[in-house]
Amino acid sequence: MRKTLILLAVLSTSIFSMNAQKSEKDIIKKLDQKSADYGNIAQNIWEFAEMGYQEEQSSGLLQKTLQDAGFTIKKGVAGIPTAFIAEYGSGSPVIAIMGEYDALPGLSQKAVAEKESAGAAAGHACGHHLFGTASTAAAISTKEWLEANKSKGTIRFYGTPAEEGGSGKVFMVREGLFNDVDIALHWHPGAQNAASAGAALANKSAKFRFYGVSAHAAASPEKGRSALDGVEAMNMMINMMREHIPQEARIHYVITAGGKAPNVVPDFAEVYYYARHNRRDVVIDIFDRMVKAAEGAALGTGTTMDYEMIGGTHELLPNLTLQKVMHDNLSEVGGMEYTAEEKAFADKIAKSLGQEKADLATAKNVQPYKTEARAFGSTDVGDVSFTVPTVGFSTATWVPGTAAHSWQAVAAGGTSIGNKGMMIAAKTLTMTAIDLFKDKKLIETAKAEFIEKRGADFKYIPLLGDRAPALDYRK
Ligand SMILES: [Zn+2]
Ligand SMILES: [Zn+2]
Repeated sequence: MRKTLILLAVLSTSIFSMNAQKSEKDIIKKLDQKSADYGNIAQNIWEFAEMGYQEEQSSGLLQKTLQDAGFTIKKGVAGIPTAFIAEYGSGSPVIAIMGEYDALPGLSQKAVAEKESAGAAAGHACGHHLFGTASTAAAISTKEWLEANKSKGTIRFYGTPAEEGGSGKVFMVREGLFNDVDIALHWHPGAQNAASAGAALANKSAKFRFYGVSAHAAASPEKGRSALDGVEAMNMMINMMREHIPQEARIHYVITAGGKAPNVVPDFAEVYYYARHNRRDVVIDIFDRMVKAAEGAALGTGTTMDYEMIGGTHELLPNLTLQKVMHDNLSEVGGMEYTAEEKAFADKIAKSLGQEKADLATAKNVQPYKTEARAFGSTDVGDVSFTVPTVGFSTATWVPGTAAHSWQAVAAGGTSIGNKGMMIAAKTLTMTAIDLFKDKKLIETAKAEFIEKRGADFKYIPLLGDRAPALDYRK
């Protein structure tokens, strides 16, 4: 009797897994068939090229796509008009896929292999049009799998605005919107296919504003106090400070207001600063010293100063349990082969990067798996990664050798090369989400690793404090 039962159980499990496997393949096939549709969505967002917190059309298009596919939409979350959550299913596990869609100022570029502005103010130099679209595609495919298998669980798409400097996700984390999520997935456009353990620097950014007194710069300079002097004195102190901070730290600034005419003593000047390091306690310390430098600069130049926190993100907490699964899935999907036309485009881009021709092998292969990574950028995914186990990867949406935030990245992202990389990402995300829905143990193991790495006494304190989203930081 008992034997029969066990036999039956084994039989039904194997039949179920055969079905599930078949349907998983079907889901990926169906996703592939929609690559032209998703390509169109991505290219629309590429053309919108909306900057942080101004992504009305981009966010709207992704919302509509998810709504049409049967997701329930909650928009304007965390006090951000362009942030939203799309959800399908019920109960646990809750798997989240994040998507970004903001562009970068001053990086407008046509989809051609030489530097040529498209006339717009901004450009998708970080490929977030592909990021948001691939994640949307993956959420929809995962939903189709849940449906086909009548599986329990919730798939959620998090529409996360203003990654570039606006720290959009931080406000969503602060609001508790990720608290009931089991695992969060993300990816990023790049110049190679890689799912090794990620790394990112914690950062804090702020705009320092100096106020002086206007006067005729030649006729009555003694009556004036230059706000620009305040900015310059601060910059000088910060540049000296560089020698006395941990060498892996990064500090950068731009003067966003410095007066209008040399013959008028500027009564207002502004400098926009970033401090970064792979440990947030170091960033906090450097930032506090930057504020002291600003105060000293104001004192010495007879001006006054205030500052506005703009962004702040945690470093990235990698999860190796999940990373290995992601790597295996990315390896199964594989990289891309260029068509003759794509190769001609890629060769030209490669030349502009000082290479003889495009590195086809890097576009085609997946990088070997590594458990250690160094990075010099920052991402607001960091804050999510300290809230729930999080895993990401990159695909070669750009010609190998291309740097993020370059015209070459905008150009490739506007072509079929970008779309191909996007579909590789959509498939890898879908397969990983399905793995998580199928394997409760995997989620438990990832959670155990997460809790151990984060530390028992961890308390989430956002680096940007209690400020509201800087909705106008790009205006
Ligand atoms: Zn970027
Ligand atoms: Zn980015």
